[in-house]
Amino acid sequence: MAWDMIGHQWAINLLSQQLANRKVRHAYLFTGPDAVGKRTLALRFAQALNCEAPPAPGETCGECRACRMIPTMKYPDLHVVEVGKLDSKLEIKSDLHIVKGKYRDGTQDINRVSSKVKVKQIRLLQRKLALAPYEGRWRVALLLRFWEASSNAANALLKTLEEPAPQVVLLLTARSAESLFPTIVSRCEVIPLRALARAELEAGLVARGISDDRANLLSGLAAGRPGWALQLAKDPEQLERRAALLEDLFSLLGKNRGERFNYAAMFKPSKRKSLHKVRERAVETLETWLSLWRDVMIIVFGARASGQNPDRRSDMERLASDIDPVQVVNAVQATRRTLQAIHQYSNVQLAMETLMLDLPRLSNR
Ligand SMILES: [Zn+2]
Repeated sequence: MAWDMIGHQWAINLLSQQLANRKVRHAYLFTGPDAVGKRTLALRFAQALNCEAPPAPGETCGECRACRMIPTMKYPDLHVVEVGKLDSKLEIKSDLHIVKGKYRDGTQDINRVSSKVKVKQIRLLQRKLALAPYEGRWRVALLLRFWEASSNAANALLKTLEEPAPQVVLLLTARSAESLFPTIVSRCEVIPLRALARAELEAGLVARGISDDRANLLSGLAAGRPGWALQLAKDPEQLERRAALLEDLFSLLGKNRGERFNYAAMFKPSKRKSLHKVRERAVETLETWLSLWRDVMIIVFGARASGQNPDRRSDMERLASDIDPVQVVNAVQATRRTLQAIHQYSNVQLAMETLMLDLPRLSNR
């Protein structure tokens, strides 16, 4: 059976050939943007390493115990290390620390999370990796989002990378190789995953039984990230929320300051809306708006790149013809600044009010 993934065929070929030729490396680092398929590819590789009945060398049967349990991350010879998640096999109680924090505007919040992969997690992993595989051929350690590791944890892992135990494979994921210590990266085979071409993602979605129209929309929205496209396919509410948020933006462009401030007031935390919820909602709003502004920028400057909102093409073209290119660039920058401010724990409502002042005003709407 093939590896059942959308895209990244070169990486699948490379890994399955190494396995077929008994040239498996000790450690791999999968890099690339969120939801591009790093974790899925690492899990498929773990599956191929331990499949009990591969139809051909480097392939997976899809039916044996390893093939069924590895995707759920419950296989005894697969050890997952990540922030805040406990691997019961590693007997970690909890490594997620909630810090009672104060924001810049003085409000208290409960959900300010300070979390890192801890050195303790690496030490527990090392103890497990020192043992022979329990039931598979390989013990596989999956270290997710490893840029979130503390420097002590990263240093502890170096020892394992330098003195590899036989029948152990380490699989790390990170957004980029630059986000990790060079000493770690140099001991791994780096597998850089990139966003897929839109046509490839669209074909992959159709092959999974998603209708042509929907696959076209989702592949546009997901900007080459299969994980995101599949998530949207599963959660139609998310698509409805996106449509409503884009509607909000189109309508705000025709509104005066008072009406815009009323909109910003929705981002005031209350008893029913925790600051955490408000913040999440603001980030979703701003990311959606940013994707639209970027598409309008593509239209205004006549670039050939494909946009992220193919279903709103005619609205965006109308907007592009009503607006000065400088205003589009300003809107992109203002939205980015607001997003950054919110990521840095500024007062959400205040940040949104500032954005409301920076958004262009179109009088013909
Ligand atoms: Zn199998």
